[in-house]
Amino acid sequence: MTTATDPGRLRDAADKAVAGGELTAEEALLLYRGLDQPSLGLLANDVRLRLNPPGDDGTVRVTYIVDRKLNPTNVCVTDCGFCAFYRAPGDPEAYVLPREVIYQKVDELVAKGGIQLLLQGGHHPKLRTEWFAELFTDLKRRYPQVWIHGMSPPEITHLGKLEKRPVRDVLQDLKAAGLDSIPGGGAEILVERVREIIAPKKATTTEWLEVFRQWAALGGRGTATMMFGHVETDAERVEHMQRIRELQRETGVFTAFIPWTFQPENTAMGTRMLQDRGGLKATVAEYLRTLSLARLYLQNVQHVQSSFVTQGMKTCQIGLSMGADDFGSAMLEENVVSSAGCTHPASIPEIERHIKDAGFVPQRRNMLYEAVETPATDKFGMPKDRQKRIVSQVEA
Ligand code: SF4
Repeated sequence: MTTATDPGRLRDAADKAVAGGELTAEEALLLYRGLDQPSLGLLANDVRLRLNPPGDDGTVRVTYIVDRKLNPTNVCVTDCGFCAFYRAPGDPEAYVLPREVIYQKVDELVAKGGIQLLLQGGHHPKLRTEWFAELFTDLKRRYPQVWIHGMSPPEITHLGKLEKRPVRDVLQDLKAAGLDSIPGGGAEILVERVREIIAPKKATTTEWLEVFRQWAALGGRGTATMMFGHVETDAERVEHMQRIRELQRETGVFTAFIPWTFQPENTAMGTRMLQDRGGLKATVAEYLRTLSLARLYLQNVQHVQSSFVTQGMKTCQIGLSMGADDFGSAMLEENVVSSAGCTHPASIPEIERHIKDAGFVPQRRNMLYEAVETPATDKFGMPKDRQKRIVSQVEA
């Protein structure tokens, strides 16, 4: 174990985290700056195994979900400097997906045994709550079995401002229409100094947290994210996690924490955002150390996800021994990070193979992290009952 200037304090902080104690920001930074990557990872793995223990047979499970990203529109008026996905209103590449295209995408999801739509998009100046509510109602009518994980906090905040009404009312309408849970997108770093540089027009820290507070009051659940490796300091990463931990203590709203690194390619501010880092993206080690720190610091959030979409399969596999217990989603489509030049597509068998090769047992899950059965598949990797389900949909 590498020691910092005060090995006694370092050891105390490590013991506290492993015993389930709540680290202070100072202790978290001490561990982050004072321990090497394997040591930090080992501590985080201890916590991971306590929070998500092995089964009776001694095997350690790693979960994943089969879902599909759906970005109903790329039109956005929020102009985040790190975003390569959005287009301004009137841009020749701007789109709002027609219903038939959305249905076609959901048909593909269902045919492949997927159970969830991750539905996020731009802040369109004209699409109101009513438009999304109608979409959710239609989707639930056609696909009652599909879980809608959608509308990140900044999208909800945008609708509230557009319609000049409280976010609670927006959330109530969307929930009534079929919204099942909320993804933690748009959190980036929940520190105003950072947000003012990278996304000055986006929901503030207070607004982002307030959406989840109100959603929790309605009985909802969701996920928390962190996009790091740009203008933030390591102390600001801990500050971000502290805000998540406090809201979780208050509400219990978060099922999982998902950290991922900034992808600068094709983004307007990519170079500027890396200026303070000597132009360098976050390394694999920096990703893994931050993942481990998150596991140690956020012990009231049960699950931590390793992200292969942004980090690649190999890094994601290592993350499973350094604090993460979830492999994320077998996504059928991802536009936002792929617009920034980051694509690590993977089939379901490939994901399972990577989990097994890392020494774990793959387990399919739903958004609430409940185990779901893996359907029997045909030689093409498609669920055997897909024909029956397609026919019943057509008949409906
Ligand atoms: S990150 Fe979201 S809010 Fe920001 S510009 Fe892109 S689509 Fe708009």
